[in-house]
Amino acid sequence: MSKTPEEAPKEKEEEKKEKPVKKKKEEKGAFAFYKIESDQISRLRPVCERCGPGYFMADHGDRYTCGHCGFTRYKVAEK
Ligand SMILES: [Zn+2]
Repeated sequence: MSKTPEEAPKEKEEEKKEKPVKKKKEEKGAFAFYKIESDQISRLRPVCERCGPGYFMADHGDRYTCGHCGFTRYKVAEK
């Protein structure tokens, strides 16, 4: 039988160092896809035609792509 010395967790309040503030990455939750303007929610990105509503497509400049099925839709160039 070996007796292990119980280490009481010491409260080291004083040694609490200030953590370097990490730059928060742009959160890309569901909210990132919506723009809320005075009670109105407008979609900033199109939804995938294949996957249906709920699957947003990523903006790639001149086209949108769906990360779910890989569907690519080119933006209609307006002239
Ligand atoms: Zn899709």
